[in-house]
Amino acid sequence: MPPQPHFLVLTYPLQGHIAPALRLARRLLAAAPGALVTFSTTVTAHRRMFPAEADAPDGGDGRLEFLPFSDGFDNGYDRTTDPAACTDYIASFHAAGARSVGELVDALAARGRPVTRVVYTMLLPWAADVAREKGVPSALYWIQPAAVLAVYYHFFYGHAGVVTDNRHDPSFIVRLPGLPPLAVQDLPSIITESTDPSEFYHSIYTTIRDLFHTLDRETPRANVLVNTCQELEVSALAAMGAYNALPIGPVPPSGDETGLFKQDGAKYMEWLDTKPADSVVYVAFGSRAGMDREQLDELLLDLEQSGRPYLCVVRKDVKAEFADGEATREPETNARLRNGMVVEWCDQVRVLSHAAVGCFVTHCGWNSVMESLVCGVPMVCVPHMSDQRMNAWLVECEWRVGARAEVRSDGVLRLRATGVRQRVEEVMQEGEAGAGAARRAASEWKRVVAEALGKGGSSDRNLRAFVEAVDSGVSV
Ligand code: UDP
Repeated sequence: MPPQPHFLVLTYPLQGHIAPALRLARRLLAAAPGALVTFSTTVTAHRRMFPAEADAPDGGDGRLEFLPFSDGFDNGYDRTTDPAACTDYIASFHAAGARSVGELVDALAARGRPVTRVVYTMLLPWAADVAREKGVPSALYWIQPAAVLAVYYHFFYGHAGVVTDNRHDPSFIVRLPGLPPLAVQDLPSIITESTDPSEFYHSIYTTIRDLFHTLDRETPRANVLVNTCQELEVSALAAMGAYNALPIGPVPPSGDETGLFKQDGAKYMEWLDTKPADSVVYVAFGSRAGMDREQLDELLLDLEQSGRPYLCVVRKDVKAEFADGEATREPETNARLRNGMVVEWCDQVRVLSHAAVGCFVTHCGWNSVMESLVCGVPMVCVPHMSDQRMNAWLVECEWRVGARAEVRSDGVLRLRATGVRQRVEEVMQEGEAGAGAARRAASEWKRVVAEALGKGGSSDRNLRAFVEAVDSGVSV
């Protein structure tokens, strides 16, 4: 008898990686009622998720277990602005991570809970090698759009020269097989701003390059689960013929949003309850992007002057970064906050699901974009780095569910607050000819995505095919 299907889901310790990995873990359990899942991230992130070990849920029936691996920094790693320290961390993450995950796979087998499939998020190129050494098939879980996967693929296979030669010319148009013409400024910043060893995210660039080499070693073809759906990215998925790319998303929240951040106790849902439908501007820039004091003051002032109610997330660590002596000072504009509410962290999916929310001003992290789409909320995009610029391009040019605000060429967050208000107005207007188009498109995409995720929909079928292949020991 084949062993009980058991997925080991491995993820990099960032909120934007943990959230979709945990959602996939839940979805795997639902799609394969006989399967087990072990969810694993670094020791430090695990402790942040579950301050008391007893907090780690077991899925009710022992089918979901949370077991950490070591990145060599079990007592924590402080984010740094020093590129050398960042490179050292990534090197340790790779070496210690590979060792520790190998030990974890052995330990699970010794306990009579052998892993039958490793599923790993994008910054763990070694995970496939570890799995292969242990005789276990693996699948990459790509947590950015298929378009970004396709751009990276073509960059690493034949088109690096044209991008690198023109990387300082934002409007230069790059033509990649199967993709529409793309301006350099819309490509992932990892291939336009991190290819030189002196650049801050160079170690992320080399990690992604290694990932593509890892996929090459998979036979007959690498399996890649993509957190998108077929209907959203038809041509980009077709451009990925080299892999067995299965769109299985956008994986929806399961109600268990255990993560690295704690909820703000403020009564923001009750506050939303007091607002008319589609009236509130929700503003949040994810779990990592920073903001300086001037940008925040300017943004809040601009939102105030718009006269629209707004809910704005300013994370605790962002406030802590403000200049000495100002950390404890509330935003100056707070005294004048008549229309808005500022919180340190909210349940974003609940907020986006609230009928009062009419627009999302976002840095365009892929999770935020997908959550907005699932909830049918149009967006104003303030992309900063990595895939966010392409995500913003998808929002505005491909799906037409929002508008890109003018961004600065540098800065903690590339936010130019004064440009945001005009875009918010465009996105939120209703009625007149042409206006309200983003909102209508958002409602339509909400329906399409719900269908893809629903029983028999494209993403549902793909996930089931993946799970059934594991059940029967066949590679999909
Ligand atoms: N998020 C949240 N509450 C907040 C701000 C963000 O729950 O107040 C969540 C959001 O729902 C998303 C994640 O944090 O799932 C951010 O991921 P994303 O890919 O959008 O951006 P990243 O943090 O990776 O830059």
